[in-house]
Amino acid sequence: MILLDGKALAAKIKAETRQKAEQMARRPGLAVILVGEDPASRVYVNGKRRDCAECGFYSEEYTLPETVCQAQLLELIEGLNERGDIDGILVQLPLPGHLNEQEVINAIDPEKDVDCFHPVNVGKLMIGREGFLPCTPAGVMALLDEYHIDPAGKRAVVVGRSNIVGKPQAILLLQRDATVTICHSRTPGLAEICRQADILVSAVGRRGLITADMAKEGAVVIDVAMNRNEEGKLCGDVDFDAVALKASYITPVPGGVGPMTRAVLMKNTLYSAQRRQNLK
Ligand code: NAP
Repeated sequence: MILLDGKALAAKIKAETRQKAEQMARRPGLAVILVGEDPASRVYVNGKRRDCAECGFYSEEYTLPETVCQAQLLELIEGLNERGDIDGILVQLPLPGHLNEQEVINAIDPEKDVDCFHPVNVGKLMIGREGFLPCTPAGVMALLDEYHIDPAGKRAVVVGRSNIVGKPQAILLLQRDATVTICHSRTPGLAEICRQADILVSAVGRRGLITADMAKEGAVVIDVAMNRNEEGKLCGDVDFDAVALKASYITPVPGGVGPMTRAVLMKNTLYSAQRRQNLK
């Protein structure tokens, strides 16, 4: 069994990104908006700030009160859309319940939508046009590539069908010629389907969901989830110790997909800056 080391690959991608950013006339700029003080969101936003510093990017952070109204948030986004020094705009999700998340995403200029959540970018992804790539699923593909795991002709099973992970993951695997099955909470016979997977991606958020009997001998197992165990430690969906005995490759949690998501965000911001400076 070989561990898919996302931490190491993310560090490599960030170093390459920094090198490219340093050659630019104007360094890439990312604006991150956080509404409220959800502790998990705060951790993610702090991480993004550190990543920007590591890559030599300019970054701005807006922390808005939990009670901010939709119009104020949209006004902030519209201002950032107009800014020449900002290449990426990211609104940390989830937003408090009184805000309309889809309307907020729609307000971001698709050219600055480094999360790849805007319908225009999701549409481009669907039809295979060049553009931003969704951070987590693209991070998974980069990990597969790094270890020379070619999805072509393989059976891939994606567990989870969210707009940010499961669905785009399935599309990216399909574009690389895998035969893809998407499973969700209403899928009967989940274990049986997972057992057929050469590449098994779990993106559910339920600790212990993927047990050893659900993995095929020699499968590549990717655990996207971030859960906490009883001791408060980070863990995924996969029963790691047992599944690792059957897998050919497996991601650890932490240190697998998580760092890759962050690295792709930096890559997307660089790409946006290059495009906006007519370098791409
Ligand atoms: P989500 O929006 O809650 O989606 C979860 C999906 O899992 C849904 O499609 C749901 O099905 C499905 N599901 C729930 N219970 C199931 C079951 N028993 N069997 C099969 N499928 C089941 O979550 P998400 O945003 O995609 O995130 C998924 C996990 O990945 C979370 O742990 C999250 O923290 C993590 N995550 C990690 C990263 C990273 O960088 N590593 C990035 C994003 C998310 P229905 O559609 O039928 O409800």
